[in-house]
Amino acid sequence: MSNKIPVGILGATGAVGQNYIYLLQNHPWFEVTYVAASPRSAGKTYREVVASKWLLGANIPEAVANLVIEDANIVEKAKGRCRFVFSALELDSKDEIKALENAYAAMGFPVVSNASAHRWTDNVPMLIPEINADHISVIDSQKKAHGWDTGFVAVKPNCSIQSYMIPVWALMQAGYEVKRMFVSTMQAVSGAGYPGVPSLDMIDNIVPFIGGEEEKTEKEPSKIFGKVEGGKIVPFTGLKVSAHCNRVPVINGHTACISLEFGDKKPSLEEIDRIWKSFRGLPQELDLPFAPVNPIIVRPEANRPQPRRDRDEDKGMAVSIGRLRTCELFDIRFVALSHNTVRGAAGGGILNAELLKAKGYIQ
Ligand code: NAP
Repeated sequence: MSNKIPVGILGATGAVGQNYIYLLQNHPWFEVTYVAASPRSAGKTYREVVASKWLLGANIPEAVANLVIEDANIVEKAKGRCRFVFSALELDSKDEIKALENAYAAMGFPVVSNASAHRWTDNVPMLIPEINADHISVIDSQKKAHGWDTGFVAVKPNCSIQSYMIPVWALMQAGYEVKRMFVSTMQAVSGAGYPGVPSLDMIDNIVPFIGGEEEKTEKEPSKIFGKVEGGKIVPFTGLKVSAHCNRVPVINGHTACISLEFGDKKPSLEEIDRIWKSFRGLPQELDLPFAPVNPIIVRPEANRPQPRRDRDEDKGMAVSIGRLRTCELFDIRFVALSHNTVRGAAGGGILNAELLKAKGYIQ
């Protein structure tokens, strides 16, 4: 009998769900015991549904391949079969996702979500643990407001912002005000789920539009950098962001070109390099299995980071940055990269769950 915490994956058959199944193999704390997806997949084994669209190497992990998929809309099915769930659901509307995630929380399940439905609920933390681990305290007021006992919802932010939020935070932590940020992203096709963007739109092409992405990219940093007040997260209003989001023919790894404007106190390039290289993020004593040792990897080469070469740094959980130089319009510019389905999706969700377990919210 395993001592690991049994976990369910909602949306287990999709691009993010598959990444959860893959990354949770041999996880020291969590074990996948329950998989759920749409009514189309319910009643079939995971192998039957996913074999022809498995994205992650040769074989579906044996421990999950023979699990029978349940209908994620029937919350009661999860009872007694897992102690918390990862939500990687894509439904027709955000309201439907919100209602379903709330239904799992009401049933007593902590819900660690990748969906955007709850990102602007003010008592739901939107976590990047290296930045805002303290935001998990709003879960107490969330539970109280709903009358939930063990259940709650916590979310992670959009994958487009993952590569540069920690580097920008490191500069803010070091005492430098960041006032304006200009971002242009080059986002991998796996970010659109499976089957995603049609191949004839993507090969030999770039698509300069991703629905809703620029709005999320411009807005989400304010909540992540926000402060907890009265059981809610009050967004930070001191940073303005302008974003261009593009879909490019890369399988995994979102790249972003960023320009930053500081307040009156401006760090030198040498100081920024030192801050990034010495940033460690989470306290070592938490010892979270998915936490990267160095959350920021600074590449010295003139032509890095690159998705194929750099996305897998520290299990895909570290962000890689390079090309730091002065900017003719703002103060500095640089390039940042993160693995969108690992750090930006399932790996980020797993790190959030590890933090929640370490702080006693998942038991
Ligand atoms: P996806 O590949 O389209 O997978 C969607 C999942 O939802 C599948 O398991 C699907 O099951 C299930 N589903 C669809 N309709 C359903 C229904 N009516 N009832 C219950 N389940 C249903 O999407 P994805 O890319 O994995 O994204 C999942 C979520 O994560 C989305 O909310 C997305 O915005 C978010 N996200 C994605 C990324 C990324 O890099 N891809 C990054 C961050 C966040 P069937 O197979 O049975 O249809």
